[in-house]
Amino acid sequence: MKPQNIAVLNAGSSSLKFSLFELTPKGPLRRIRGQIAEITSNPVFSARIGSDPKEPDQLLGSNHVGHHRCLKFLLAWLEQHARVDAAGHRVVHGGIHYSQPVILDAAVITALEALIPLAPLHQPHNLEPIRALATLHPGLTQVACFDTAFHATKRQEAQCFPLPATLTDAGVRRYGFHGLSYEYIAMKLKELDPELARGRVVVAHLGNGASMCAIDNGKCVDSTMGMTAADGLPMGTRSGTLDPGVLLYMARELNMSLDSIEDVLYRQSGLKGISGISHDMRQLEQSDHPKAAQAIALMVYRIQQYFGALTASLGGLDGAVFTAGIGENSSLIRRKTLQGLHWLGFELDDVANTQHATRITTRQSKIPAYVLPTDEDLMIAHHVQEILDTR
Ligand code: AMP
Repeated sequence: MKPQNIAVLNAGSSSLKFSLFELTPKGPLRRIRGQIAEITSNPVFSARIGSDPKEPDQLLGSNHVGHHRCLKFLLAWLEQHARVDAAGHRVVHGGIHYSQPVILDAAVITALEALIPLAPLHQPHNLEPIRALATLHPGLTQVACFDTAFHATKRQEAQCFPLPATLTDAGVRRYGFHGLSYEYIAMKLKELDPELARGRVVVAHLGNGASMCAIDNGKCVDSTMGMTAADGLPMGTRSGTLDPGVLLYMARELNMSLDSIEDVLYRQSGLKGISGISHDMRQLEQSDHPKAAQAIALMVYRIQQYFGALTASLGGLDGAVFTAGIGENSSLIRRKTLQGLHWLGFELDDVANTQHATRITTRQSKIPAYVLPTDEDLMIAHHVQEILDTR
C-alpha cells in the first residue's frame, strides 16, 4: 500500500506544534517535526527533518502573526517537502459524544465550539487551525482526535462527581485527559509485554501537565484528572486536586477575583508555587534549596497516593509505566516513587533506572515497572490512517 503523508497539528495558546508522517501500515518511514512559537506576537519557526540536525530557527516577522497566517506559512513549507494527504488535530475536549476520532465538517466544528466552556484555556486554540485549514485547503480530510476519548470507558462512579444530578447532566463530569498518550502507551505495551497489556496497569504521564491512568486490558478504568486539566497531581504550574473550600476561601475571605484564582490554580502553583524557584523538574533537581526538595517530595507523595487509589480502582495491580518529560527522564522521581511502593510489589533496579532502561524493576520484583516514551502525534497519525483506510 502507498505511504500516506499525514500532518498532525497541536495548537496551543502561543504555539503551533506539528509533525508530518510518511506512514505505512507498518509504521512511519519518515517524520518531520517542529513548531511555530510565539504565534500571537513574534512567530519563530523551527523544524527537524528525520534525524537531520535541526534547521536554523526562522523569524517569520509581523505579517505572519496569528494562527491563520502561521498555518498558511506552515502548509506552504510542508508542501515543499511532501504532498499532504490528510491532517489530524489534537483536540482537548470531545465532551460526552465524541469518544472516537471524527472527520471534521462544519457541523462537527460547531459541536466542538459548543464545548469551549468545558476547556476555555485549550479548546479555542485547538479549533483555530481546523478552521484555518478548512479555508486554506478546503478539500483536505481533517480528523479531530480527543484527549478525553480514551477515558470514555470509565464506569459511572468514575465519570461523575458527587454533585446534584442537574450539574452532572449539564456536563460537570470527570472526563480525564492525556488520553492520546495513554492510548499510545497501551498500544506499545502490547508489543513490549503482551501479558501485562492484558492486565491491570497504572500509567504515570508526568510532564509539565501530569496525570495518571488506571488501565485494565487496554481500557481506561479511571484517571486522576476530572473535568479540567487542573485536577489530580501537582504539575509544573498547576495545583492539582484541592479541597473545594480553598476556592471559596480565596474568593470570599481573600477577595480574589475569578481571574486571579484561575491564575493561581493554573500558573502559580504546582512545582513552581511550592519551590518558588521553577516549574521545571531539571532545575529543581539541580537546586540544593530546601524548597526545591519540598516540591519534589510533595509531587512524589501525591504520585504514590494515586498509585494506591488507582490500584483500588483496578482491584489490584500487575505493573506500571512511566512516561512524558519527567517520567521518561527523571530517574530521581521514578526512584523515590517506586522505593515507597514496595508494598505494591515493586522492587527497583537502581542501575537500570539510572540508565533509563525500559524495565526498571529487578527480575525478582513481583510486578514490573517500565519507562516508555510517549508519542501523541504518532497516535493521531495512526487514527487518521485508519479513517483514510476505511473510506
Ligand atoms: P513535557 O511536558 O512532557 O515536555 O515534560 C516537561 C518536564 O520534563 C519538565 O519539568 C522538565 O524539566 C522535565 N524533564 C525533561 N528532561 C528531564 C531530565 N533529564 N531530568 C528531569 N526532568 C526532566
